[in-house]
Amino acid sequence: MTALRDDPVTALGAWPRLRKDPASLVPRPHLADYEATRQGFSWEAARSGLSGLPGGGLNIAHEAVHRHASGPRAERTALRWIGKDGSRREFSYAQLSTEARRFASALRGLGVGAGERVFLLLGRIPELYVAMLGALSAEAVVSPLFSAFGPEPIATRIGMGRGAVLVTTPELYRRKVEGIRASLPSLRHVILVERAGEAEPVAGTVRWAELVPGASPDFALPPTDPEALALLHFTSGTTGRPKGAMHVHGAVLTHYVTGLYALDLHEDDIFWCTADPGWVTGTSYGVIAPLVHGVTNLVVEAEFDAQTWYGILASEKVTVWYTAPTAIRMMMKLGVEAVRGYDLSHLRFMASVGEPLNPEGVLFGVEAFGRPFHDNWWQTETGGIMIANFAAMDVKPGSMGRPLPGIEAAIVRREPDGTVAVIEEPMVEGELALKRGWPSMFRGYLGEEERYRKCFAGEWYLTGDLAKRDEEGYFWFVGRADDVIKSAGHLIGPFEVESALMEHPAVAEAAAIGKPDPIVGEVVKAFVALKPGFAASEELRRELLGHARKRLGPAVAPKEIDFRDTLPRTRSGKIMRRLLKARELGLPEGDLSTLESDERPAAGAAP
Ligand code: AMP
Repeated sequence: MTALRDDPVTALGAWPRLRKDPASLVPRPHLADYEATRQGFSWEAARSGLSGLPGGGLNIAHEAVHRHASGPRAERTALRWIGKDGSRREFSYAQLSTEARRFASALRGLGVGAGERVFLLLGRIPELYVAMLGALSAEAVVSPLFSAFGPEPIATRIGMGRGAVLVTTPELYRRKVEGIRASLPSLRHVILVERAGEAEPVAGTVRWAELVPGASPDFALPPTDPEALALLHFTSGTTGRPKGAMHVHGAVLTHYVTGLYALDLHEDDIFWCTADPGWVTGTSYGVIAPLVHGVTNLVVEAEFDAQTWYGILASEKVTVWYTAPTAIRMMMKLGVEAVRGYDLSHLRFMASVGEPLNPEGVLFGVEAFGRPFHDNWWQTETGGIMIANFAAMDVKPGSMGRPLPGIEAAIVRREPDGTVAVIEEPMVEGELALKRGWPSMFRGYLGEEERYRKCFAGEWYLTGDLAKRDEEGYFWFVGRADDVIKSAGHLIGPFEVESALMEHPAVAEAAAIGKPDPIVGEVVKAFVALKPGFAASEELRRELLGHARKRLGPAVAPKEIDFRDTLPRTRSGKIMRRLLKARELGLPEGDLSTLESDERPAAGAAP
């Protein structure tokens, strides 16, 4: 079953190098020889794997569904959906294409034009996929929102993106959108996807059932410019509002190439990406890449449950599985025994992304599934996988792997004059940088030219991650260079958490940090100083936790809150989250030269 041989311990860590024997792998990996493929690679040549629009141009939806609908894959299952209650729906490529075209016609019927923003706030239901592909077909810009967001992150993102359309469900609309709708003047249409039997009209909304099924399936795609904006993915920085990373239709070339080399998709594959399309992985790899490759894309509506997942891997005969470290650690907790009894013989390749994957996680894959989890690295801004452990390449547990063909990665040091110097010596820590120009590189942060510009130094895009590169060119993640928090694979901006807490009448100031957690990587912990007249108490703590959860939603809200008399600030007034974190973890406090000496206590001192 496995083509791995254990080797003596690598020079780099206490973990055995997992050797691959490419010749024994079936089917032969697309990337069987890393060096040779890299040398022979060009983006221009890779473009031949795509079709392009018949009248010229490049459109993600055409590459993902419409071209297959008129080719040999028309009747192949494109989307296999398993609902929370076990119900199933299947769409062939021909059907998915028809439904997407109907949605595109419906948008045009509503007067929604090219470049207008369509926000999706949906759980993993088939209409999400239809709406995404339909909106892309109509050259509208898609912005997916995580359905576990609370009203505040939703309002911020739709407001910043000037959303014209929101597709959601009656339940999500009532709980999260109705109360903020008046603050969103750009939002002209709200389309509600109802469940069977749920047909209560909701004021100010249109019903999917009345709009889409009757719309024309004869929508002709416009001759989309590859540089036309396609996707708007909000991501978080240390300060300020979230950043709207802008991606273009031409990004589909990266989705194609990474599907080929990093996920090793072959035509008969049943592919399962467990990420939610509310985040970039769930869009690039939960929708686009597998469909571009014409494989069957499995969509599971239910949240994580190890036994359910093992059951699905077995019964659906999943061949390629793309998941995340938090889920892997949850499975590890149950032990390898829990996997026994499931027939997982179809599983060929397993990959992981989004947060550091512990070497133990890689090896758990070997013990439990007979093959390692292949860690790979990328981020919202890169649009697709940039560094990966490839099917035919030795795995060094703990390493993110090597750069994709067509991607040049380096470890750099920022110089005081604003330039960067490439660090050539192996295993020296620096910032991970990528040579600009790959097809899915973000084209800007919405409305924030300066913030975008600052991400680049000459030819290099600076990722904000700290890493090392070893003498064989494998990259090793070290940490973030900034204060963003990664919890269960979701990037959380401390500023968004702090702003929500500050809206509470008792809070004078707030700071949020990521506190290490053995399962989800980091949990959000907040520190607050109270306004005069308020006293710290257990009751207030609970109230603040509830307040944050209501505003931000469970995915973003802090899990812990501590009171402080005052929060440490720099002389220029910035809260020193790093210092709070060091104190919380009992670590050295580092350079305190910029700490304001007078940490004036706020009223309502902590107990
Ligand atoms: P996002 O933009 O939400 O996809 O988050 C991207 C960030 O997640 C990266 O900049 C890293 O900090 C982290 N990340 C993604 N993949 C990995 C990985 N394989 N190992 C370590 N960190 C990762």
